[in-house]
Amino acid sequence: MASGDGVERLTHPIFAAYIGDYPEQVLVTCCITGYCPRCTIPRQQVGENTEPHPLRNLRSILEALQMTDQGAAAFVKACREAGIKPVFEPFWANLPYSNIYLTITPDVLHQLYQGVFKHLKTWVIEAHHGAHEIDARCRWLPPNHNICIFMKGISSLSRVSGHEHGQMSHFLLGLIVDTPLPGGMSSVCLVRCLRGLLDFLFLAQYPVHSTTTLELMSSALNRFHANKNIFVDLEICSDFHIPKIHFLNHYVKTVTLFGTFDNFNTEYTECLHIDLAKDAYRASNRKDEYSQMMLWLKRKEKVMRHDAFFSWIHSGEHPPLRTYWIRPGFNTLRPLKMTKHPSVPSVRITDVVRLYGATFFDAALSRFIVQLKYPHFSGRCLDDEVHCQPAPRQ
Ligand SMILES: [Zn+2]
Repeated sequence: MASGDGVERLTHPIFAAYIGDYPEQVLVTCCITGYCPRCTIPRQQVGENTEPHPLRNLRSILEALQMTDQGAAAFVKACREAGIKPVFEPFWANLPYSNIYLTITPDVLHQLYQGVFKHLKTWVIEAHHGAHEIDARCRWLPPNHNICIFMKGISSLSRVSGHEHGQMSHFLLGLIVDTPLPGGMSSVCLVRCLRGLLDFLFLAQYPVHSTTTLELMSSALNRFHANKNIFVDLEICSDFHIPKIHFLNHYVKTVTLFGTFDNFNTEYTECLHIDLAKDAYRASNRKDEYSQMMLWLKRKEKVMRHDAFFSWIHSGEHPPLRTYWIRPGFNTLRPLKMTKHPSVPSVRITDVVRLYGATFFDAALSRFIVQLKYPHFSGRCLDDEVHCQPAPRQ
């Protein structure tokens, strides 16, 4: 890998963070849907404001996964007792220095915007006499440069993106702050609950954290949990057993382990997901789509390279200093560095072999000259003709 100073080093990456939405987290950790992919919290406590539970026991899970040679029934039973699905050889089982349950990271886009905030927005709309009142208030917002105005309201939108939820988070509290609740119920708890979550949401996106900001995050989360029962009182929902709500309790600890959340926000890779997965899927006929998607991407890449090549030809610029060459038998591009001003003006061929250690130079030069003169000759004929050795590994 090339580091920041341009030096290439042999590296041994360690699996430290797995970034994904809840279904992907459940899939990769072999957990059961509805449970936390990270800790041992019981299903009935998911969504409550509890102290952090201990991580899942990796050692006992690995022992259960090694029961495959004891028969299918014993393997399934061992996995069930360890709290996971019976999966044959998950990829992380033999990775050194890594714990899959520790690598599950928070995700601002899917957990906060497309998860908890989305739920809360729906509950808030339902609490205020349905969509009519909230949509009308959306239209009354004065035009400005910072907030997107939803002229059709926010309740009838389908497939709301994370960006749109981000826009809604800017004004939702302002819309409901003086709205009465049905039955003359006080709206104090609802406002506190929403404010607690919004504070948490904005604090979580700080690019730098300190002990103070982490305490503020914990306090905001406590306010959210302390007041969320208003939605049960209003009979909008019956419980909060939602894993994404529970995962907010892991946020503060994760900052101390891995740093701020901009390190593992899926928002940054989501644009590539559109280009490389969604657009490619739409170009297929939706049947046996994988091979069609790969072909479509390959063609698109070729067209782009062709286009770049011709724009370089027509630009009349010098060729780039850094030339790329393809090593025979390898499909990877490697940079070949050439010196601009050679230190020696000329060298005898015998000296190339004797002083510079280019043992196969003679044979390689013969091969090059013959190939240049007779380009239709096959490699085997050339080898016989010039008696050269296999191409050197240089
Ligand atoms: Zn948990």
